[in-house]
Amino acid sequence: MSSPTSAVSARSQALFERGSAVTPGGVNSPVRAFNAVGGTPRFITSARGAWLTDADGNELVDMICSWGPMLLGHAHPEVLAAVNAAVARGTSYGTPTVPEVELAEEIVSRTPVERVRFVSSGTEATMSAIRLARGFTGRDMIVKFAGCYHGHVDSLLVAAGSGLVTLGVPGTPGVPDSATALTLVLPYNDRAAVTQAFAEHGDRIACLITEAAPGNMGVVPPEPGFNQFLAETCAANGALFISDEVMTGFRASRQGQWGLDGAVEGWRPDLVTFGKVMGGGFPAAAFGGRADVMAHLAPQGGVYQAGTLSGNPIATTAGLTTLRLATDEVYAHISAAGEVIKAGAAAALTAAGVPHRVQSAGTMFSVFFTENEVRDFDDAGTQHVAAHAAFFHSMLDAGVHLPPSAYEAWFLSAAHDDHAVQTVLDAFGPAAEAAARA
Ligand code: PMP
Repeated sequence: MSSPTSAVSARSQALFERGSAVTPGGVNSPVRAFNAVGGTPRFITSARGAWLTDADGNELVDMICSWGPMLLGHAHPEVLAAVNAAVARGTSYGTPTVPEVELAEEIVSRTPVERVRFVSSGTEATMSAIRLARGFTGRDMIVKFAGCYHGHVDSLLVAAGSGLVTLGVPGTPGVPDSATALTLVLPYNDRAAVTQAFAEHGDRIACLITEAAPGNMGVVPPEPGFNQFLAETCAANGALFISDEVMTGFRASRQGQWGLDGAVEGWRPDLVTFGKVMGGGFPAAAFGGRADVMAHLAPQGGVYQAGTLSGNPIATTAGLTTLRLATDEVYAHISAAGEVIKAGAAAALTAAGVPHRVQSAGTMFSVFFTENEVRDFDDAGTQHVAAHAAFFHSMLDAGVHLPPSAYEAWFLSAAHDDHAVQTVLDAFGPAAEAAARA
């Protein structure tokens, strides 16, 4: 592990101390902290393609990609040009704009949604989708799965993944019991639990929300037919099926996770949430779905939802340009680079005798430090987190920035070329040996 006084990160450490004096924990989103792995986070001062440059001038292969958005890599010239041109026209008007319409058209053409409403974060998207589902159905209960993270929405902060797992927080203080009393939490990939919940509460359930393929407890793919089963169970009970594609959307495939199951099997979710890639690195997210359901949103319908910066012209321009450049070749490249990296990680960990599982959903993947297959949140919790921490720090020392948590997906971009991939592969051997010693 890097020692706290390591010269290679002296400037990051000084900045982290300054930041910690004015910001809780020194970070503006918990998973950026190194709580789970020890040490101080690197301050990034610039990024280009697959590479981050930190405050001490270290160059690091980026395996976080802003937690998903940077599908094309950092500072993509065409995205920058479109954004710069948009900035020159003014940055926010509070009126309808052209890029909003164009981005909505692009999303409608690629995904199962008929109408889409823009917001500024994935949290807002899931919060609004749930309000809409309750307003549309006139019911109050919602269903989620343990280990699925849908942003920091009060009613969804029960057995959530991501930063809550990293920090070991079971839910959170500040959310009253009344906010989660109407939330049923079920084990992921468990059809019997879903059937039983609907048998007991079917006429009160407004919606079931799930990550389309969970990535916030590490990548736990839905078992074949699971999402279809959820869609059918919801339909049979008059509940809405909300597929959260904030992470998987335009990333797991060109059409998100739905492109890998729903589009093939012939079913559609009632509502879908998006974020990350569709904002091209800016704060933009969305929810959308059936036209008859979306018609219940204000001002067309009575369910209120709004946002000062919703559909911001810079963010929607960045997202639109990103999606237009996200061609089949981009996904094929990310998929191929992912296969090489997954194989390299597995080979190194096997050679070092470190128990592990590599799991994928389309082009998304993660490495679990456990020998068990990970089907749900309990399985994810069997990981040897000290082995992950040792692995993480060895990779960082070798110039590869993995997510600082054992419960997160690893992200690649179209800019991860042979040089970047080789840098990652070269780092795996010593990292696996460090994990073996942990
Ligand atoms: N849903 C999913 C599946 C996510 O992965 C995330 C963020 N990691 C969110 C919702 C929340 O998005 P945001 O952080 O933009 O609020």
